[in-house]
Amino acid sequence: MKIFGWHIMKCEYCHYSERNNGPKCLDCYLLDKRFREGKIRNMPTRFAIILYKKLKESGEYDNKELSIEDLEKKVYYENYSGEQNYISIDLSVRPAQVNIEMDGKHHGMSLKQAKADLKRTYTCFERGWFTLRIPNILMQQTESEMEDTMDDIINLLIESEEQLEKEDTPPRF
Ligand SMILES: [Zn+2]
Repeated sequence: MKIFGWHIMKCEYCHYSERNNGPKCLDCYLLDKRFREGKIRNMPTRFAIILYKKLKESGEYDNKELSIEDLEKKVYYENYSGEQNYISIDLSVRPAQVNIEMDGKHHGMSLKQAKADLKRTYTCFERGWFTLRIPNILMQQTESEMEDTMDDIINLLIESEEQLEKEDTPPRF
C-alpha cells in the first residue's frame, strides 16, 4: 500500500518525527518496548518525548549526556531510615542537574499527590537537583505554540549548567 500525505508518515505517538519501519518513530518504538518489558512504569507523555527530541536537536546534549533512559528514569536513593527508595522522573537532565516533571500525567491533582510531589522536590533538591514542573496547560499547546516554551526550558537548562560549573558541585544521585 502506498501512503500519501505527510501526516500519515509522522509517528503515531509523538506526531513529531518520521516513522521508522512501523507506525512509530525510533524513539517512541524504543520507549514502547521499554514499557512493555516493564522497564518503565508509564509511557512518557508526548510533550516529554518532544522536549527530549528538541534537546537532542539543539546540539547541547550528546548520547552520553542525554539518552532515552533519562525519560521515566528510576532514581534510587537512601531515605532517613536507611531504606532504599526510588522515584521515577519524567525527564532527568543530568548535566544541568534538572529534573523535569510533567504535571499532566495525573488527571486532576489530589492532595495526596501534591504532598508526595513536594517531598520528591525536597528529596531531589537536597541532592542538588532542581525540579522543573510543567503545568498541563503548557503541554496542551500546538507544536508551533510550544516553540517558546521549549526555548525557555532549554535556556533554563543551559543556565543551570553554567551555574553548576561555577559552583563546582558534583551531582549526588
Ligand atoms: Zn514518536
